[in-house]
Amino acid sequence: MSTLTPPLSQRLDGLRSSAIRDLLKLTARPDIIGLAGGLPDEELMPRDRIALAAESALADRSRLQYTESAGWGPLREVLAARESARLGRTVPLAEVFVTHGSQQALSLLAEVLLDPGALVIVEDPAYVGALQVFRAAGARIVAVPLDTEGMRVDALADLLAAGERPAVVHTVSNFHNPRGVTLSAARRRELANLAERHGFWVIEDDPYGELWFDRPAPAPVATYSPNVIRLSSASKILAPSLRAGWMVAPDAVCRGVELLKQGADLCGSALTQQITADLLADESWLSGHVDKVRGMYGERAQALVGALRERFGDRVVSTDAAGGMFVWVDFTDGTDTAALLPRAVDHGVAFVPGSAFAVSDGYRGSMRLCFTTSEAATLREAVERLARAAAQSTQS
Ligand code: PMP
Repeated sequence: MSTLTPPLSQRLDGLRSSAIRDLLKLTARPDIIGLAGGLPDEELMPRDRIALAAESALADRSRLQYTESAGWGPLREVLAARESARLGRTVPLAEVFVTHGSQQALSLLAEVLLDPGALVIVEDPAYVGALQVFRAAGARIVAVPLDTEGMRVDALADLLAAGERPAVVHTVSNFHNPRGVTLSAARRRELANLAERHGFWVIEDDPYGELWFDRPAPAPVATYSPNVIRLSSASKILAPSLRAGWMVAPDAVCRGVELLKQGADLCGSALTQQITADLLADESWLSGHVDKVRGMYGERAQALVGALRERFGDRVVSTDAAGGMFVWVDFTDGTDTAALLPRAVDHGVAFVPGSAFAVSDGYRGSMRLCFTTSEAATLREAVERLARAAAQSTQS
């Protein structure tokens, strides 16, 4: 008797694995300077402080127990206080929800806010983790471009004027992944106004806001409207393995997410949530720690951008890297970055071609470089290797 293989769901049709994740497998060789990954530097993760907090958490056996689906109460309290300061209003506990990284917030929100075929507007180039979620939810996806001031809110207004009715607009407002830019204060207000006038949700996805180098980012979009759901995360300032993300959203949204989270994983880890609460509540330690991360990343960003400008001159336009983890580079001389990549890998450097972040097509002359995990001198060497690879591409 032949074995009949049961089918997988139709939701998987057309979904692809992230090109970046596939690429990282190829470029994990130790001789390659990796500017492709999007990882925070583990040397800067506060291992000893985490160990202390873990020990103190484990002194209480109840930390090994299940916890509330919305998150361990004391962590939600710390987050409510931090978010109240950030948003300039008192955020009630009912509006704070802890998720397994902010990625889980995206995925649960897609289920809570979207019916199949609903319109989601994303930025182009996009955070691919969000694109994957919205695609899996069966959304219709339309993109608006970014410029140096973040999302082109005027392009969004044009789409609305043409009759498009989004359920959700997704924005990475601070130090965009992959584009490096930050949404200007004026556009934040405009975006919030549009959300209220046309009745759509904005998901303000903000894992990088605290990683500013010279000056803090403008007030969150969520300051201006209750239609804005704000996501943030401990991944980039503490450690991704804590899997501590959070959401500030109206009560009805949090209750919807709660129902779905029960189905997904019952609850998060009381242990890592206690560790996160301990670290976030220790304000004087935290501000010293985050200052150190900012200082190191700022120095690395400057080294990378400086080397790019020195070595490539006007053959590239790159972002200033005012914060976050990424520099976005546009070649002005017609270089095709997907074709450049294998040569760059031969020369010992890896990056992600811009096309990996395109919503449909484009960014063939662009690339994303991550500066977090290499020292300044290594980044300068990476640019040297890149320049040699690019010179070879022009000759051949
Ligand atoms: N949003 C954006 C824009 C990101 O870049 C990332 C991580 N790369 C996430 C959300 C998810 O991060 P986490 O789940 O670790 O909080």
